[in-house]
Amino acid sequence: MSIADNLKNIQSTIIDGVTLVAVSKTKPNEYIQDAYDAGQRIFGENRPQELRDKYDALPKDIEWHFIGHPQSKQVKYFAPFVSLIHGVDSLKLLQVINKEALRNNRIINCLLEFHIAEESSKFGLNLSESKDILNDPEFKLLSNISICGVMGMATYTDDSNQIRREFNSLKLIFDNLKSEFFTNVSDFKEISMGMSSDYQIAIEEGSTMVRIGSSIFGSRL
Ligand SMILES: *Cc1c(COP(=O)(O)O)cnc(C)c1O
Repeated sequence: MSIADNLKNIQSTIIDGVTLVAVSKTKPNEYIQDAYDAGQRIFGENRPQELRDKYDALPKDIEWHFIGHPQSKQVKYFAPFVSLIHGVDSLKLLQVINKEALRNNRIINCLLEFHIAEESSKFGLNLSESKDILNDPEFKLLSNISICGVMGMATYTDDSNQIRREFNSLKLIFDNLKSEFFTNVSDFKEISMGMSSDYQIAIEEGSTMVRIGSSIFGSRL
């Protein structure tokens, strides 16, 4: 199967209104160009410098998403062009991103990352931590950040009920924050959840954005 075939298969299983982020981390530029030639325009990367290099080398109408956890001093690599940062889980990181956004005279879109997996190894906030951030006077000073929604990763397991439960918990978090903080904020609309192994469940549970790598580009060794 070619990358173009893989993309077509996945697109055919994704309902209208769900955005596909093609996760190209570790994959060479030729693979990304193949996906681009097949019509894909949104790509996700998780290493700042690798993202920068790919941005420089590839077509300029690609929308690049950062899906990892940058160190503060790495934000500058993608701040000039990144269109969405998925993995934001602290006020400190938001402050760094805001500073780089100001420096580049732009607004940077961010998703708050939540810890929804029952396993303990993943990053992310819980609901009350996120409210602490959103209520913090320091947060209200961040003029160049737009919070566009939430992101989370389910446990890597065969237990589809568990995965469903975890995705549902992120949907509930989204609804809760929407009604308490973002009722009139149309930009707060994304629920980024679902990867190659679990994106169909994620969509059933309300995902608006799936991040799919290996099912498009092959496994990462
Ligand atoms: C690598 C990665 C993905 C894609 O994973 P696949 O299983 O290859 O689809 C999605 N989201 C995040 C945050 C990732 O790091």
